Amino acid sequence: MKMRKKRAVSMRTVLVIMLFVIGVVPMFIQGRLMVTTLKQNQIESMTLEIQNQCLILSNRLTQAGYLADDVTDTILDSQMDVVSDMFSGRIVIVDRDYRIIRDTFGLAEGKYHVSEEVVRCFSGESSNKYNKEKHYLIQTFPIYALESQGKIDGVMVVTASTEGILSLADMVGEKIVLFEVMSLIIIVMGILAAERLYLKPLRRFQQALKRTAGGNVEEEIMVDTYKETKEMSTAVSQAFTKLREMDNSRQEFVSNVSHELKTPITSIRVLADSLMAMEDAPVELYREFMNDISDEIDRESKIIDDLLSLVKMDKSAAETMNITQVDIYGLLELILKRLRPIAQKRNIELTLERVRDVVADADEVKLSLGLSNLVENAIKYNREDGWVRVTLDADHKFFFIKVADSGIGIPEEFQTRIFERFYRVDKARSRETGGTGLGLAITKNVIEMHRGTIRVQSVEGEGTVFSVRIPLTYIP
Ligand code: ADP
Repeated sequence: MKMRKKRAVSMRTVLVIMLFVIGVVPMFIQGRLMVTTLKQNQIESMTLEIQNQCLILSNRLTQAGYLADDVTDTILDSQMDVVSDMFSGRIVIVDRDYRIIRDTFGLAEGKYHVSEEVVRCFSGESSNKYNKEKHYLIQTFPIYALESQGKIDGVMVVTASTEGILSLADMVGEKIVLFEVMSLIIIVMGILAAERLYLKPLRRFQQALKRTAGGNVEEEIMVDTYKETKEMSTAVSQAFTKLREMDNSRQEFVSNVSHELKTPITSIRVLADSLMAMEDAPVELYREFMNDISDEIDRESKIIDDLLSLVKMDKSAAETMNITQVDIYGLLELILKRLRPIAQKRNIELTLERVRDVVADADEVKLSLGLSNLVENAIKYNREDGWVRVTLDADHKFFFIKVADSGIGIPEEFQTRIFERFYRVDKARSRETGGTGLGLAITKNVIEMHRGTIRVQSVEGEGTVFSVRIPLTYIP
C-alpha cells in the first residue's frame, strides 16, 4: 500500500495567518467603511443644505414675482450669487418655456434648458442627483406662481461641486491609512513577540528530543515554560524511562541467558578436564563422568528448548495464534496422563475434577504447554505422598482452571517474582529437579496471549494454588 505523506503546516504560518485575519483584515475593512460613510454623510448634509437654501430662494422668487416681471431684481440676483458661491456651484432659473432667464455664471441666459429633471420638476417632482465621477450634485426645485396656489412657473436648477467635502474625506482617509500602517507594524512586532513566546519553548523541546534521538538518552527533557510544555515533557520523560527500563530488562535477560547456557558447559568442561588429568582412570569412572556429561547436555538442550518456546510465546507474536475450538477437559486429561509417571515416582496423588464441560477458543499446542508447566511445578515442588488437584469450571464468559498442591509453597515476598524469566526461589532445588526458571514466564505469556489472567496463592510449607481465567471466545 502506498503511503501518502501529509505535509505538516508550520505553527508559525498558522499564527501569522490567524493574527492577520483577526487583526489586519477587520482594521482595513473598518477604515474603508469609515471613509465611505463620512463621504455619504457629508453629501447628505450638503443635499439638505442645498434644499433648504432652494426653499428660501424659491419662496423669495415667488414673493418677488421674479418670473412674471421682466425687470431684473438685483437683490435677489446677488442673493443667488451668494448661495451659488456658498456651494461653489451654479444656479440656473428656467421659465415655463424652458428658457433660461438667470444663470449665476451668466453664460446661458436666453438659451433653452430642456432636461428630464426640469420637465419632471414642472410636474411637481423636484429631484436631486449625485454624479460620482464628476463629483457634483444637481438639485431641481419648483418656483410657484404667486397668484394661483400650486401652479409652477419656473424651475431652479442648482449644481454644486462636492470636491471640497470629498477632499476632506480623503484627508481623513489618508490619516486612517497612516494609522493602519502603524497598526500593521505593531501587529508584525506582536507576531514576532508571540512567536518568541510560544514557539521558542516548543523549539527547545524539539531540540532536546533531537539530542536524545542522537544518542544522549540520559538527558532530562524538561521545558516548563508553560503548563502544556511541562506536561508534554513529563509524558515524554516517562516514555523514555519506560524504554530505558525495557532496554535494561532486555540486557539483563541476555546476560541471564548467557549465564544459564554457560553453567552446564562449565560443568562439562570440569568433568572432561578432570578425566583427562587422570592417568589410567578406571572404566567405571569414565562411565560415571560420561553419564554426568550427558545429563548436563540434556539440561543445556532443555534451556534452549524453553528459550525457543519463550520467544515463540512472546506477546508480540500474537499473529502466530492458531485458534480452534478446544475441549479443555480433554486437554487437561492428556496433560495429567503424561505427567502421572513422574507423580507416581514420589507417590503423589494426581486428580482432575470438572464442575462444567468447557469448549473454548484456544491455541491447543500453546495452552497445553502453559498448563503442563503448572501441573509439572505442582509435582516438582511437592512432598513425598502429597497431592495435586486440578479443577475446571466456567461461567458464561470465562473458564477457570485451578492447580492446587500440597507442596513446599512460595514465600509471600517471592510470589510476584516467580513469573520473571529465570527466577527461581530455591536455585539448588530447581536445578535438582531440572528446572530452568522459564516455565512460569512461558505460562504467563501463553495465558496473556489468550487474553487471560493468572494468580497465585500460597502458604509456605502448606501448598500453592495457581488460578487461571481465560475468556471462552478469543478476542484478537
Ligand atoms: P522452574 O523451571 O525453576 O520450575 P518456573 O518458572 O516454572 O521455573 O518457576 C519459578 C519458580 O517458582 C520455581 O523455581 C519455584 O521456586 C517456584 N514455584 C513454581 N511453582 C511452584 C509450586 N507449585 N510450589 C512451590 N514453588 C513453585
